[in-house]
Amino acid sequence: MRLDHTEAERAFRHEVRRFCAQNLPSALRERVRSGMRAEPEGLRQWQNILFRQGWGAPTWPREYGGTGWSPVQIHIFEQETAAADAPPQFHQGLELIGPIIFTYGTVEQKAKYLPRILSGEDWWCQGYSEPQAGSDLAGLRTRAVRDGDHYVVSGQKLWTSYAHVADRMFCLVRTSDEARKQEGISLLLIDMDSPGITVRPFQTLDEQEHVTEVFLDAVRVPESQRVGEEGKGWSYGKVLLDRERALTAALGLRISRLLEHVRALALKTPDAGTTLYQSALFRAKFAQLEIEVQALEHMGLRMLADNVAGVDTGPRGSMLKLRWSELLQRASELWTEALGYDGTCFAPAGPLPGWVPQAQSGPVVAYLHSRVTSIYGGSNEIQRNIIARRALGL
Ligand SMILES: Cc1cc2nc3c(=O)[nH]c(=O)nc-3n(C[C@H](O)[C@H](O)[C@H](O)COP(=O)(O)OP(=O)(O)OC[C@H]3O[C@@H](n4cnc5c(N)ncnc54)[C@H](O)[C@@H]3O)c2cc1C
Repeated sequence: MRLDHTEAERAFRHEVRRFCAQNLPSALRERVRSGMRAEPEGLRQWQNILFRQGWGAPTWPREYGGTGWSPVQIHIFEQETAAADAPPQFHQGLELIGPIIFTYGTVEQKAKYLPRILSGEDWWCQGYSEPQAGSDLAGLRTRAVRDGDHYVVSGQKLWTSYAHVADRMFCLVRTSDEARKQEGISLLLIDMDSPGITVRPFQTLDEQEHVTEVFLDAVRVPESQRVGEEGKGWSYGKVLLDRERALTAALGLRISRLLEHVRALALKTPDAGTTLYQSALFRAKFAQLEIEVQALEHMGLRMLADNVAGVDTGPRGSMLKLRWSELLQRASELWTEALGYDGTCFAPAGPLPGWVPQAQSGPVVAYLHSRVTSIYGGSNEIQRNIIARRALGL
């Protein structure tokens, strides 16, 4: 990948910058800037704005409505949208199930689902984890039994992000107990308004309700909603997880932006007669983080270039996911530190009735939420196991 941009690439950067300045809703920008994550409505809105510009799917091929951009253009787009404090595009439809549908789906599935993902009309949730199947995902027990041209699905999913606002769920189900447990798993696309689905949101450490339990009680799903072959869902699922890890790496760019917010805040926070930013201890931590984040960005760029060139990137997605999560946690911790006494306005002991996190507690919310990044998409212990096995041959 070349990093010295051509004239056309520089023009493209200006185009993206101008577009963001003119089209990113200010409420969304302020929310992201404060450290609060965008609400689903805001994310749908931003997705639709990008879609109308023809930029709905930066990483998809053109034939499915993607931009067909080069890795350099994708990188420029990510840099500029991060610098504008636009929210990251919600990835579960766009980057997880969308590519599976255009790779393994039927003509009908492609025609029905891809345009609605692009426009932001459909919100997808990921129904993989279960109470006894997180790291050991192949142990999942939600069962799909054939009944004519339908499956009847029963079981429970856990930690399903945003299922309470989702239109559809891509769901791993057990269709057979014979052979290895990985071979009896299929991937179904389930409408969330199907009879028999109950969604129960619950609160997390950051006092937001964005994860849920999903109960499936004899939910009838047409066979035409199965992606690919019966019993092959595990292999499609693994492709998704690899993609998810690689994508989280692209978010490394956003840590740099977060550090700019940290610097701006620390320059205003009083400390021993001067500002926190002048404190040697704070500056040492800040500089160390900046260096490591730059290294992460370059790891991400190499991975992106290799992905597009069709080079096997082995376990590098796991390495990036691991580093990204650790650096994001450290950066958001520093942001909270830069709040000084204002950090205490968050009430971690539990919300008071009617209490809603305020913008000034955004960095605290961001810090608490960042704990999840070393758990979801495969915990950091699992990533270390993958690296040990695939990179070190242990
Ligand atoms: C906020 C949040 C959002 C999520 N969103 C979704 C979602 O949208 N869809 C979805 O399907 N899932 C989602 N998840 C689930 C997530 O993928 C799982 O939590 C994760 O895979 C870990 O599984 P578990 O919670 O069952 O923990 P466990 O697998 O029970 O692990 C518990 C601990 O043991 C460690 N451990 C387990 N096995 C090993 C091993 N072999 N070697 C070393 N250490 C090990 C783990 O690292 C962890 O520290 C979400 C989770 C969270 C917290």
